[in-house]
Amino acid sequence: MSGEKESANVWQSIWRGVKCRCPRCGKGWLFHHYVEQVAHCANCKEPLARYKVGLLLPLVVITIMIHILAFVMLEMELNGYGNPLIYLYVLVPLSVIVPIAILPSSKGAIIGLLWAKGWSDELDR
Ligand SMILES: [Zn+2]
Repeated sequence: MSGEKESANVWQSIWRGVKCRCPRCGKGWLFHHYVEQVAHCANCKEPLARYKVGLLLPLVVITIMIHILAFVMLEMELNGYGNPLIYLYVLVPLSVIVPIAILPSSKGAIIGLLWAKGWSDELDR
């Protein structure tokens, strides 16, 4: 199998990943349990398990988190909610819920990118 994907549209693949769909056909689901990757797309049989997101995933999730938290903190300060207790009640749940919510889409986006570029862990096979 050659790694050529004949001008695969990178952004389309990433967007399909964000929607937790197969980067090739956009129809089959990318995960079966929360963020557990499927071995093959149920629709087009594209092998997906060989695209390993590794440490890129926490990097992406943390980067998104920092932007969300910074924005929320700034908004709270500007609107006079700078009370440490309110901070605690808002930011602590937020920093737990948001990563859980954005994890599948973040992982999907990275898989979409890896797929579009042909960066699998089986490049030479
Ligand atoms: Zn597919």
